[in-house]
Amino acid sequence: MNSQKKIAVIGAGPGGYICAIRAAQLGMQVTCIDQWVNASNQPSPGGTCLNVGCIPSKVLLESTHLYHEAEHSAAIHGISLAKLSMDVAKMQDRKEKIVTNLAKGVQSLLKANNINFISGTASLGANKTVFVNDSSIGSFDAVVLASGSLPIELPFAKFNHTTILDSADALALKEVPATLGIIGAGVIGLELGSVWARLGSKVTILEALPDFLPSVDTAIAQQAFKSLSNQGMTITLNTKVTAVQEKNKKVQVTLANQEQPIMFDALIVAVGRKPNCKQVLRPESGITLNKNDSIPVDQYCRTSVSDIYAVGDLVRGPMLAHKASHEGVMVAELIAGEHAESDLNLVPSIIYTNPEIAWVGKTEKQLQQDQIPYTIGSFPFAALGRAIAQNSTTGMVKILSHKETGTLLGVHIFGPSASELIATATTALAFEATAEDIALTIAGHPTLSEAFHEAALDATTGALNLFRKKT
Ligand code: FAD
Ligand code: AMP
Repeated sequence: MNSQKKIAVIGAGPGGYICAIRAAQLGMQVTCIDQWVNASNQPSPGGTCLNVGCIPSKVLLESTHLYHEAEHSAAIHGISLAKLSMDVAKMQDRKEKIVTNLAKGVQSLLKANNINFISGTASLGANKTVFVNDSSIGSFDAVVLASGSLPIELPFAKFNHTTILDSADALALKEVPATLGIIGAGVIGLELGSVWARLGSKVTILEALPDFLPSVDTAIAQQAFKSLSNQGMTITLNTKVTAVQEKNKKVQVTLANQEQPIMFDALIVAVGRKPNCKQVLRPESGITLNKNDSIPVDQYCRTSVSDIYAVGDLVRGPMLAHKASHEGVMVAELIAGEHAESDLNLVPSIIYTNPEIAWVGKTEKQLQQDQIPYTIGSFPFAALGRAIAQNSTTGMVKILSHKETGTLLGVHIFGPSASELIATATTALAFEATAEDIALTIAGHPTLSEAFHEAALDATTGALNLFRKKT
């Protein structure tokens, strides 16, 4: 009987709090412990995602996108805005209010589900015993570890949180730095760079690798590189930062391939995140870590110790909120004795630049490596009435389907509302749809969704609204 099962969830980010709610729905007695407190020292469940990640970054991206559009695109529509200004303090205040309200919402959800929420620092001992602030709160039938991740700090660029910043600092800047350096052209670097570049900062992104966004489909990454480079952001590849020094409240950055160092008003170190495991595991817990500090788990998020699970940023796979939540649900259902699974191939990835980049499934490079024969169908937003109406014609939808069966293998989008469009593609992949299945559906007109439909037509009978002959 589930009602007899007592479980503890350590961490109330999107992995932990969603796991706790699902477990409660399934009739378990759930304790959820989280250590996050806000500036007023109040508990703020929701994890990195809500406090310093997905939500605040999207709030700032929305505000600055509006500002940028007003400045650069309003005139195209015949709108004249005489005196435009951005009140950064007000923008930040709105962000804080949204985060505070949503964190209260998470607390209310936990309460409504009769979850015993404890604000404190938890750790796992032997025999599924959980400690909060070093005192045992007892032994549980199962424990779910969901303590998330932390920003990686470079040994030569220690965060001082005023000029050398982590991503949380960069979301809280009170003024627009005249010049901003960013180490790392990954998702976080590009999103934060976009925010501050739109407000007039001269942004330089320094990336050690020779390829831009190597995990993104190459054709999409190439289009994105061109487009983003034209937005007040200089993205330099093959540029390894080797030293960082604060000098007169500015930051001096030394590069491996350039004698002359560069000076910035502020520097964001956005070189990735590392699993936050150490504090949560007591030596007697019996769990040993992978080389990169992640917790080894199988496809069901089971650790090497029976009835101990780990989800989200703590374990293999992309560090994404929806991946964490999906694993949280799966684990709750497994503990309840139900069948559940999670397929990493069906986790959509999104970069919220303008235009947005979104993809699900395999890239062309992966298919080539796996020697899977494929067909490409693509459609540019420039040929779509709705995109033209929106003045957002950059980018395309590209689909990859199996050459023999037509089954969709990957969908890659660079363009307006890619973050929304990818949902249909994800559903299609989950249901093992073929390109023909998509081609046979009807997309509303005029919508951006037509680009996905036309790309499917391109992979089968031929796109209709395009001057391109099917070969
Ligand atoms: P977390 O959200 O990190 O939650 C872990 C929780 O555990 C935290 O509340 C922490 O306080 C708590 N905790 C840690 N140790 C203990 C302990 N010992 N005791 C008690 N509590 C503890 N992902 C997306 O999908 N979309 C996005 O748009 C997106 N944008 C991002 C933007 C930024 C700037 C950043 C930094 C990240 C972004 N991410 C995004 C990634 C996303 O935030 C993470 O993948 C997600 O939060 C992981 O969820 P989680 O539950 O595993 O961990
Ligand atoms: P992500 O892991 O997607 O957040 O991206 C982090 C990026 O930072 C990766 O593309 C790394 O190549 C890059 N990076 C890491 N260390 C350095 C460095 N010293 N100089 C420049 N780029 C770096």
